[in-house]
Amino acid sequence: MNLLQNILDFNKGFVDEKKYEQFETTKFPNKKMVILTCMDTRLLELLPNALNVKNGDVKIVKNAGALVTHPFGSIMRSLLVAVYQLQAKEVLVIGHHDCGMSGMKPEGIMGEMKNRGIHDEIFDTLTYSGIDVKGWLHGFENVNSSVAHSVDVIKNHPLMAKDIPVHGLVIDPSTGKLDLVVNGYED
Ligand SMILES: [Zn+2]
Repeated sequence: MNLLQNILDFNKGFVDEKKYEQFETTKFPNKKMVILTCMDTRLLELLPNALNVKNGDVKIVKNAGALVTHPFGSIMRSLLVAVYQLQAKEVLVIGHHDCGMSGMKPEGIMGEMKNRGIHDEIFDTLTYSGIDVKGWLHGFENVNSSVAHSVDVIKNHPLMAKDIPVHGLVIDPSTGKLDLVVNGYED
């Protein structure tokens, strides 16, 4: 049986047996905050448990590396929606040690793309169209400075409310230990 069919079969039982009842809540976060973090598999359950957040407590926005790559991209828009439409009053950026985006070199992922059939001409076309593919695929060198940079972009975004504290933290993906990088109350 394939992955999708497994999910659909499990889902039928989940709904039929009303297992959803324990998760019932609203779209407004009880703890009035939004978290930007990484899509890393190790954080899926570890991060909420390590922060004592449950279903309904927070908004969580995830991407590779917990990065705000563009001030008018979907990550920043999600954070603004959380603040202005969904009652989030604080923002937490949580990067983590041993992140896949740490030290990621564009040559590696572009090499994989080529192996999977993306031809050199495509990269040439993008380059001649003014798109900096290498820059776009570049990771970060240091998680602390990456988190601090994301905090800076969010805090100083022209559309972000000035009374919203933006905190920066780094989590250990093995132990769940948090280290504070930026205390948003002190800015
Ligand atoms: Zn990561």
